[in-house]
Amino acid sequence: MKLVVHKYGGSSVADAQKIINVARRIGRVRDSGAQVVTVVSAMGDTTDDLIKLAHTVSQEPDPRELDVLLSTGELVSCTLLAMALRDMGYDAVSLSGFQAGIHTDTTYGKARIYGVDAQRITKELDRGRLVVVAGFQGITEAQDVTTLGRGGSDTTAVALAAALHADRCEVYTDVEGIYTADPRIVPEARKLLEIGYQEMLELASSGAKMHPRSIELGAVYKVPIYVASTFVDAPGTLIHQGPDEHQMENRIKVTGIAYQAKIAKITVRGVPDRPGVAASLFEPLAQAGISVDTIVQNTGMERMTDISFTVNRSDVPRALQEVQKVLPVIGAAEVVTDPSLASVSIVGAGMQNTPGYASRMFRILADGGINIELITTSEIRISCIIKEEQVRQAVRLLHQGFHLDREP
Ligand code: ASP
Ligand code: MG
Repeated sequence: MKLVVHKYGGSSVADAQKIINVARRIGRVRDSGAQVVTVVSAMGDTTDDLIKLAHTVSQEPDPRELDVLLSTGELVSCTLLAMALRDMGYDAVSLSGFQAGIHTDTTYGKARIYGVDAQRITKELDRGRLVVVAGFQGITEAQDVTTLGRGGSDTTAVALAAALHADRCEVYTDVEGIYTADPRIVPEARKLLEIGYQEMLELASSGAKMHPRSIELGAVYKVPIYVASTFVDAPGTLIHQGPDEHQMENRIKVTGIAYQAKIAKITVRGVPDRPGVAASLFEPLAQAGISVDTIVQNTGMERMTDISFTVNRSDVPRALQEVQKVLPVIGAAEVVTDPSLASVSIVGAGMQNTPGYASRMFRILADGGINIELITTSEIRISCIIKEEQVRQAVRLLHQGFHLDREP
């Protein structure tokens, strides 16, 4: 029998009527003869509200207690959904993350799944039941409740689909899928019918926002993930392995335009050009848990060089603190920051070996009067760091310039 995992986000189960609507949808899939495991997020803004509630009694809520508190949000939605299904005559059972066998490490608030023991779910499915699982939560070896990080129910769903060898994981949300650009910035952005995992990871800002770990998991275990709207009956986007592979070289090379705001650039000036300097600079940043993205070192002049790198804007004070400490150690002159930058990227799996994409991107930005501060490339993207105030315009110009509004 076909087995599918469905996942419904918080806005899809925000109130009683919406939960009943979801129950009807699941019932229809069951009626068509499939087994269904459903993963739910907490109702509406429940998780935010619970975090606020914790802060009313504690300035810095204890991580272990906070995770138990947050896990209750998903317990509410999964039990209500099971009740609604039973009311419609379906045999349904809800399971907490613990009962569903989601085993995690002990990093409260950001736990990683190290394994799924699917015995209980399999037993319930074998009894002919619909299974509803509380998303976003798991259990440590010591049987403490953990949560997977904000938006983590997607990862629960894909992990279950992988463990159960489900035919696919269907993620239902309040948008219709993944687009060639963020539709709030580019109204003519096109919905993509399919996209590869790697491209999806890059296009996370374009339409349905998914927990990045769910996409990584999907890629590793080859779980096809279908993202569509709970509310609109329209085709969604299938995230799967390489649409690039079967269409080979005929495929349009740029799939979409991604962007990221709130980026800051930190430049260390007058750095002596000798071995060990970069290591001395970046080691303390790594130790402080600050993730550094783009790094550029200029060619040295008179044995001096500049090193620039980008961090999230919110990490600037901490990063500066670390850099100030090593300045005298490495003998650098000064550090300067530019806190209001953003990145804009063209993304596509086939770009790598085709010359001309980078130059075309730079020309489009130049014609729009947009100055490029830094450039980085990877196998499937070319990114430019630009002024934040120009990022929306850059996304629009690139979308137009690469003709993404047209059907391929
Ligand atoms: N309820 C959790 C959150 O809001 C998990 C999720 O929605 O996936 O982050
Ligand atoms: Mg949520």
